[in-house]
Amino acid sequence: MLRLAGVSKHFGSVTAVDRADLAVEDGELLAVVGESGCGKTTTLRLIAGLEEPDAGTISNGGVPVNDVPAGRRNVQMIFQNFALWPHMRVFDERRYTNLTLPLKVRQWSNDKIRDFIRPMAERLGIQERFYGRKPGELSGGEQQRVALGRALATSPRICLMDEPLSNIDPPNRLKMRGEILKFHRDHRLTTLYVTHNLADALALADRIGVMRAGRFEQIDTGENLMRRPATDYVADFFHASELRPRLAPLGRSP
Ligand code: ATP
Repeated sequence: MLRLAGVSKHFGSVTAVDRADLAVEDGELLAVVGESGCGKTTTLRLIAGLEEPDAGTISNGGVPVNDVPAGRRNVQMIFQNFALWPHMRVFDERRYTNLTLPLKVRQWSNDKIRDFIRPMAERLGIQERFYGRKPGELSGGEQQRVALGRALATSPRICLMDEPLSNIDPPNRLKMRGEILKFHRDHRLTTLYVTHNLADALALADRIGVMRAGRFEQIDTGENLMRRPATDYVADFFHASELRPRLAPLGRSP
């Protein structure tokens, strides 16, 4: 289980995360929603080890990881701005490329890399004609697909996604949402998924954490958040009546 206990992070006079408590089950996909500036990205960065908390404990499987450096936390983060390697091409199983680097480092054979990456790239809509391009030669949405592919290729224990679909157009968005869900079902990675898109959160998440001013106001299933919001803020946030019809296609009772 991934756990945050009383975690705080300040930037000067700004309190980005304020004594936040969170427990994510192994293999759970937890969406994190909340107004802009409420601390979502900072929470992910703290879990990834890219920021140090000022107070509180972050633990993984019962072991505190506050002092474990980012590279050794077995956590993969997909950023809003992709952070692809600009000098590397998208994919070539024989070379260090954006999609192959983590597998090359693990000394996978070319055949194994090809058999693993190609079907996934196809499902993510990364077409062969993109393989030889560098990130600067791809659109924002295409870069985001490659970033998602690269993160999924590393098979991390914990996957942190910060608005991974924000630049994707609607038809591809549904496809990629399906791909994230399939990947999550197949591999059961513990996943935190930050989004402003409540439809994505409802479609993907086992539970949703609503953040407000640096803390988790309520963490529960989408259905419970709408039916039994713990606070007026959560009720307002979900505009319960507007979103309710969206539950039906997800196979959940309205
Ligand atoms: P958004 O939905 O807009 O991405 P967010 O919920 O992810 O927002 P954070 O990026 O975590 O919010 O920021 C939380 C607060 O901390 C904001 O007030 C932000 O301005 C501030 N903040 C974040 N990073 C820094 C930094 N490096 N230096 C100073 N202030 C920061």
